[in-house]
Amino acid sequence: MKNVKKIMLIYPPGKMYQRGEDRSQGNIFLSAATTMRACNDLGYAASNLKKDGHDVFLRDYQTEGLTRDELIADFRSYHPHYLFTSTTDATIFDDLQILSQLNQIYPKCKIILKGALFFDLDQQILNSLPLSGIDYLIGGESDFIIARLIKADQCKEKLSSVPGIIYKENKQWHKTEFKWWEENLDSLDFPDREQMNNRLYIRPDTGEPIATISASRGCSYNCIFCLTPRISGTRIRFRSISNIIDEINSCYHRHGIKNFFFKADTFTLDKNWVGQLCAELIKTGLSDKIQWAANSRTNPLDFETLDLMHSAGCWLVAYGFESGSPETLTRIEKQISIADNLRAAQMTTEAGMEIYGFFVIGFPWEDYRHLADTENHIYQLNSDFIEIHIANPYYGTKLYQIAQQENVLEGNVLGGDYFSPTIKGTKYLSLKALKNFRKRLLLHYYLRPEYIMSRIYRNKKNVNKINNYIKYGIKLIKNTL
Ligand code: SF4
Repeated sequence: MKNVKKIMLIYPPGKMYQRGEDRSQGNIFLSAATTMRACNDLGYAASNLKKDGHDVFLRDYQTEGLTRDELIADFRSYHPHYLFTSTTDATIFDDLQILSQLNQIYPKCKIILKGALFFDLDQQILNSLPLSGIDYLIGGESDFIIARLIKADQCKEKLSSVPGIIYKENKQWHKTEFKWWEENLDSLDFPDREQMNNRLYIRPDTGEPIATISASRGCSYNCIFCLTPRISGTRIRFRSISNIIDEINSCYHRHGIKNFFFKADTFTLDKNWVGQLCAELIKTGLSDKIQWAANSRTNPLDFETLDLMHSAGCWLVAYGFESGSPETLTRIEKQISIADNLRAAQMTTEAGMEIYGFFVIGFPWEDYRHLADTENHIYQLNSDFIEIHIANPYYGTKLYQIAQQENVLEGNVLGGDYFSPTIKGTKYLSLKALKNFRKRLLLHYYLRPEYIMSRIYRNKKNVNKINNYIKYGIKLIKNTL
């Protein structure tokens, strides 16, 4: 085929971040109990570019723990026409340094950088970034954009017709349409797991490979700290049940993967859709062969749905409980209550599943009373695993505007994450106080004798799991002391 291009798809070397997750961009090396999710954004790019006849090279340098020299050696030997990589708010400056070095080696290789921060990015911030070696920025859902972009670049089509990108013309950056979302999620080929190193992405408690299945996109809520409505839209788009089942079967039969995480911003929101998916998992017998986890809001939610999820192989539900302060729950516009959280936790436990609870502290209006409410709520909920984030005002969120108004932003809005946000603190508490509170609470929560005994008792026949808990316990102590 004419116009076959060599395309290198990478996560660059450096600290581990969930580069494929526009919403959370989680810091994995400092996280209490989370592991890297699969690089589905690279995998989707690989399968869809190969469909167009291109040759691809895919490697996740950060998760493999490889060095910049190893990346450079691969770059020299593969000599690509295009390089596509994902960045995060936290890693952007390090990533740009690496890309600048690659650009100097082969200036003709076009560099495409994807990240949530580029979604309709303000011209002033754009101009402040050292982007001289970068050809294209993708801020929309790259899975649906990358192949279109490369086609347009090759055929000299109008780049302005490719949605969700920022491109250079006459040395000026130009933005295209950002409020565009692909409706037909089944139109994507599955992530190319032949190219992905599936063994890198593991379930923390068992160490077994886990695949991420993108089940739906978008969220109809508008929590002030969350990037999802901005990047994936406020209308939820679902994949068909048969398309999801086909992908699970492919993972199971071709790659021997038996663990799954359903990536969906609000997995349980449509009770009928969840019911159909669970019914199909049971009908096909997959529920006896696989285990899976999903995230959920604490409302709307009912026991019937949770019970069915458990019957279909779900072992863990991750909830954004967010806060124990009724005032904060109202002001973050999550539309959940303390009672919703307690009810969700109780129903999940009764249905036989474990709970991963996520909390956020450090909103601009918070003082020690709000933090104390959250601490009490954390113990009330008694989740199996918890993580505590510090509110990071991502550019484009309502929280960013509030942080600006309240004068709590620290320097550049970029460079931060949920453990080291780009804030001075709240109006009443320093960032140092927030970090200390988080560390103290995590240590106390996980090192309670009754917590340790309950984990050991629950897994008394599974030495592997107990060993992994010890491993994560040591990591937690190292990271927090
Ligand atoms: S419910 Fe809120 S936090 Fe969850 S995905 Fe939707 S907007 Fe984001």
